[in-house]
Amino acid sequence: MPVVTCPGCGSTSLRGYTPSRRTERRNFRCRSCGLLGWSDRADLVMPDSVGLDEISVEAREAWIASKRTSTADAAYDEALDRLESRLGDPNGRRIYDIGAGDGLFLAHAAKRGYDVRGNDLIQANVEIAKARYDIPLDLGDIATLELDPVDAVTLWCVIAHVEDPTSLLQHSYDLLRPGGVIFLQTPRRTWIDRTALGVAEAAKGRLTHWSDRRIAPHHWLLHTARSMRATLEALGFVDVEVLPRARYSLDSLTYLRSMGVPAGAARGLAKAADGMIRGGIAPRIVLEAYARKPGALAPVS
Ligand SMILES: [Zn+2]
Repeated sequence: MPVVTCPGCGSTSLRGYTPSRRTERRNFRCRSCGLLGWSDRADLVMPDSVGLDEISVEAREAWIASKRTSTADAAYDEALDRLESRLGDPNGRRIYDIGAGDGLFLAHAAKRGYDVRGNDLIQANVEIAKARYDIPLDLGDIATLELDPVDAVTLWCVIAHVEDPTSLLQHSYDLLRPGGVIFLQTPRRTWIDRTALGVAEAAKGRLTHWSDRRIAPHHWLLHTARSMRATLEALGFVDVEVLPRARYSLDSLTYLRSMGVPAGAARGLAKAADGMIRGGIAPRIVLEAYARKPGALAPVS
């Protein structure tokens, strides 16, 4: 079934694009809030969990090693500072990280005094988080887990990966105590994404390397500040704050190679991209959002 209602603002005024000749995927843009996404979603089936026979601890560790950790550390510290400004003293406050990966974010949160817990669908991540940082993760989708309410829920690059992001955010809302705070990071629709789709449209579905990489089965929504705000407010969240950010979690060379750029050209481009990232002029490819569930936050008991 193609997407007929915007998953951000609920509008039915969606513009469809010519399918990519490489991938045959068709994208849409919401005329109201600007959200971009993949239209034909029938083939995406999410597993309940992924065992060690499918993704081993060693394979997962190699993938984690390709990430730009100094960037992650800075992003984690900023998010924790902003959560603290909303929640007050973190000591004894309960935080739940959905899709917690190797547990590094929760390790940062634990150092600040939070009572930490999270989940992941990949068993190798559960093992790595325990072994590296002694962080407890539940294996499986939060919709299937029995969880106690928490003061903060965090989702680092999760909502663009799941079949039903609205339902996941509803579960996040339900998991929060009154007055609790949600933080999320998700890919942002930049001017490059919109231009790339316009170019592909003019070329009748050719020249789609960029849009095929940015809007993909594992990454199917690119939010705008407006669509992110609409999504959170429709669920009942208040005090919504949406911040565009230039954060690159893969190193530039890995990212460019994953887009099919040949190795020689990729090395030159990666150097230029790294310079832009250091200089703060790279496109702000992600959105970070904070919001609160209505009500007064109870003191730590
Ligand atoms: Zn919309």
